Amino acid sequence: MMSHAQTAANFIGVDLSGATMHAALVSGDGEVIARREAPLERDAVVAQVARTISELRDSSPNIAAIGVGIPGLVNRQTDRVLVSTDLPSVVRGDIHADLIKATGLRVELENDANAAAYGEYKVGAGRGSRDMFFATIGSGIGGAIIINGKLWLGASGFAGEFGHITIDAEGIECMCGNTGCLETLASAPNIVRRANDRLYRDNTSSLSRLAINKEFTAADIVHEAQEGDDFSLMMIERTGKYIGAAVASVINLLNIERIVLGGGVMEAGDLILGPIIREAERRAFQPCFEATQIAAAALGTDAVSIGAAMLARDATGQTNAA
Ligand SMILES: [Zn+2]
Repeated sequence: MMSHAQTAANFIGVDLSGATMHAALVSGDGEVIARREAPLERDAVVAQVARTISELRDSSPNIAAIGVGIPGLVNRQTDRVLVSTDLPSVVRGDIHADLIKATGLRVELENDANAAAYGEYKVGAGRGSRDMFFATIGSGIGGAIIINGKLWLGASGFAGEFGHITIDAEGIECMCGNTGCLETLASAPNIVRRANDRLYRDNTSSLSRLAINKEFTAADIVHEAQEGDDFSLMMIERTGKYIGAAVASVINLLNIERIVLGGGVMEAGDLILGPIIREAERRAFQPCFEATQIAAAALGTDAVSIGAAMLARDATGQTNAA
């Protein structure tokens, strides 16, 4: 007897957004059937993705389409990658045409934050909402807006630049040209920068002992906070306050039903979600705040690949979803 995975059409989602490439074989209702991951081969992305897809097709020959999440600006009308500082080779080439040629399958490209948002919206923490704002807080900070089931891209595709909301008008310079953006305070490298700036004043922290032996990361700060280190807890709480201030702006602007927050920094769980919600409540217009649910993302490192697969599914018009 053929299993469901063998008979029904499945989809493949690929995440090119980090140092590790993630790919997933995903059923029509968003369930991950198989995964592959490997260090991203920046200079041979097309060959790596084509090889990975061919491996995943061995576990399910019936693939209807492929979705690829790209760290950069993607024009979905022309299927071209316009800007990607992380993957310049993809900008120069034509990954869309190359992957169609290599696989014979339909290929959908999307910005990584948009893909993750779509995944959370369809099968993660956004499920059941009509309108959703999604933010990913990790090595950078990105955002995406889904209105009535569709990604809202803005006039030129840049909508949802949550990381570049101004938090501190007198703050440090951001790579976008502004000063004091949320990203200059709350991205993983900036949490580390702020911690280093303060540490010399507080050498009782377990983090300062860590800092003697190696450079610590935002994940180390989260870990020390979870172990009860006061300094690390304070750093996470302050980071939550900055994010909460930006969330309040989103709430006031969009009066949106649900806000879903993902990315590595959110691994701190309730230690950061609590301060975010409290600060958002303190700052947002009360009737707007009360209409908004704020939740942690549910799909973890699968978000981009599941979302890219769901975008591919919906672009082909095939839905096996119950
Ligand atoms: Zn900025």
